[in-house]
Amino acid sequence: MKPWEQWTGRAAVHEVSVALGIVDEVMRIARQNNARRVLSVRLKIGQLSGIQSGCLRFAFDAVKLEHPVLSSAEILISEIPLRYRCVECGRDFDAGGRIAVSCEACGGRDLKVISGEEQHLENVELEIQP
Ligand SMILES: [Zn+2]
Repeated sequence: MKPWEQWTGRAAVHEVSVALGIVDEVMRIARQNNARRVLSVRLKIGQLSGIQSGCLRFAFDAVKLEHPVLSSAEILISEIPLRYRCVECGRDFDAGGRIAVSCEACGGRDLKVISGEEQHLENVELEIQP
């Protein structure tokens, strides 16, 4: 049994699968660069991505222990606020983490999400072998 399998049934199954995906990608980058150690992993997570950053951090800290190169890496999460653009008046606004149905300024209902759906690896800091 992997260390994280003990709690995946009760919580954060989605975050565990996201963490496993991140770890795969980070390990691929570490191998390509012949890294001795991964120092930090920086992620961008949008408010609308459906990911709880606390759960993701918890999942990553469990999954990383499978890989000695990664076991001391720190996870840094930038939370990207949910922002909309109104197609009618062109105004951008932050809905304070809520789903907006109409523009704050003109009441227009044709809204585009311009940020907040992010879910990607931004940066990996490696210690490279001399
Ligand atoms: Zn508007």
